[in-house]
Amino acid sequence: MVKSTKIVKVSQRPDWDQYFLKLAMLASERATCPRMHCGCVLVKNKNVISTGYNGSIPGDEHCEDIGCLIVDNHCVRTVHAEMNALVQAAKRGHAVDGATAYVTNMPCTTCAKSLITAGVVRVVVFSDYHDTLATQFFAVAKVQIDKIEMPNVQINYNLGSYSSARK
Ligand SMILES: [Zn+2]
Ligand SMILES: [Zn+2]
Repeated sequence: MVKSTKIVKVSQRPDWDQYFLKLAMLASERATCPRMHCGCVLVKNKNVISTGYNGSIPGDEHCEDIGCLIVDNHCVRTVHAEMNALVQAAKRGHAVDGATAYVTNMPCTTCAKSLITAGVVRVVVFSDYHDTLATQFFAVAKVQIDKIEMPNVQINYNLGSYSSARK
């Protein structure tokens, strides 16, 4: 006999934007430059196509181990999160045309131009970035920018509430 179980309302269930931004925040934990921790998730039809964080090129050492590589007051060692997400998609042959980019930080000018050129149509972010040229390029390309509140930084994973998971 099929019996329905008691409905337990899961509080703080994130909506889609919050969910993918939280994934971008999680990706940013893998960043290797202490000056900036960024994460990016490319999403199409509510599916993750690719993720990225700012990190060194393959084979290079990490800023956090050997220090940053500063040019004009910017660390240039890492590939930015958005660029890494784009090149990972390219590497595996996943089309990003029409995708939404969820990013922890407002993209810099170069990343903005790359996202636009790759066909990204919407950018969701919770923070500001001083580089206003990115905003200008997004406006020209008619890319929708949505700034939403930073999602809850805690990941609520209440394993104990599921009987099948109890030891
Ligand atoms: Zn660095
Ligand atoms: Zn960038």
